[in-house]
Amino acid sequence: MKITHVKAPLPGPKSRNLLDTWHRYEADVVGFQAPLVWQSASGCIVTDVDGNEFIDWTSGVLVTSVGHCHLHLVRAAQEASARLLNNYECANVDRILAARALVRALPRHLDRCFFLTTGSEAIEGALRLMKRKTGRFEILSFEAGFHGRTVGAASAGGMAGPKRHYGPGIPGAIRAPYPNPYRDPCGWCSGGPRFEKYFSYLDTVIAANSTGSLAGVLVEPYQGAAGFIFPPRGWLKRLEEWARERGLLFTLDEVQSSYGRTGRMWAMEHERLTPDIVTIGKAIGSGVPVSAVAARAEVFACLKKGEMSSTLGGNPVASAAVVAVLEIMQNERLVARSARMGTYMKRRLLQIAERCPYLGDVRGQGLVMGLEFVKNKKTREPAPELILQIILECANNGLIVGSVGVYGNVIRVAPPLVITKAEADESLSIMEKVLRKIRLP
Ligand code: PMP
Repeated sequence: MKITHVKAPLPGPKSRNLLDTWHRYEADVVGFQAPLVWQSASGCIVTDVDGNEFIDWTSGVLVTSVGHCHLHLVRAAQEASARLLNNYECANVDRILAARALVRALPRHLDRCFFLTTGSEAIEGALRLMKRKTGRFEILSFEAGFHGRTVGAASAGGMAGPKRHYGPGIPGAIRAPYPNPYRDPCGWCSGGPRFEKYFSYLDTVIAANSTGSLAGVLVEPYQGAAGFIFPPRGWLKRLEEWARERGLLFTLDEVQSSYGRTGRMWAMEHERLTPDIVTIGKAIGSGVPVSAVAARAEVFACLKKGEMSSTLGGNPVASAAVVAVLEIMQNERLVARSARMGTYMKRRLLQIAERCPYLGDVRGQGLVMGLEFVKNKKTREPAPELILQIILECANNGLIVGSVGVYGNVIRVAPPLVITKAEADESLSIMEKVLRKIRLP
């Protein structure tokens, strides 16, 4: 039986009216999305205000990993909100249980966490920790990286979007290339496991840019916003080792890569990384706003009382969500499911790519994959022109997708981890049909 039902072309009449109202009152400054107004969602299925039903490949930017509106999560948030909505910095039962549950779910060496509200805020917290712990102020991060839109996070980032036209970022941000196996003109991806060419260049970057006050390294296990770029195997491990050799703190930004997204609970598990600090966001609340910084107790010990705090951090509703999401992850074995469904979907996507002249690269792990579109598979010239067509045509056929990428030419494949085989099959067929139709203008 068909899962999706759409009366194309979108937007439907109710969506059109509501979108007009929206833009009359709220500034129209967010990125391009399929023209529909979400009414409700459950698991992997989204219903818009016109009654159209779609399969979701976005998880709302990799947030709703346990599925939209999972009943256990909804009930936990409802119960907590009826008891206590906020108490700022004080102990509350949910916060204490959430901290215990999160630390127990983390690799053993990370034995403390602190709750905040957004991914960007967690990054700011990590930057502060690296500086305070070392007494130094420079941070090494990576070109094309994305860590958020607050000033510290944007300064560490290496994408134009959050920075261009905003003047100088914070001093002490040093950036190096992130190896991209699909676009590697300088050969940064070769020479593993030691990647000597890359790391000798990294030493040059530091010699040329550091005043001698390097505190730490901030890196994504894969670059999400840049287009789901996965570095060559072993590079992250070597980077961690490189940082340790120089007495630097190593921070892994797992805001989007954690909670089973890559087929492991934490992306750091793939290469047995042991970061000093980890930032966590998005799926940790699966729709309820919450984020966290995790580190060793000895790292947090550099902060005096009152040095890290946030008005809504650790509030009972967010904290109840943290506990409920971890319970769902475990009860429904979502990490294993992500690995299994990811392998299944990737195999089909690779077959689809063989028949599509524009689908240059299919990459990823678990249920986070990128489809990179190019004008020509030999030259690999980016084809951002195709992305609007793909988003619109997919939506008209019942599949919600979004785009990312330094060149704006990558489609995200990141459904909730609860995606069923039937939903995977139907959504893959929609993508296949759409890719048969698209043409370069
Ligand atoms: N780090 C990474 C790796 C991200 O992908 C994002 C958001 N896309 C952030 C940080 C910032 O998170 P937020 O939007 O919740 O501030």
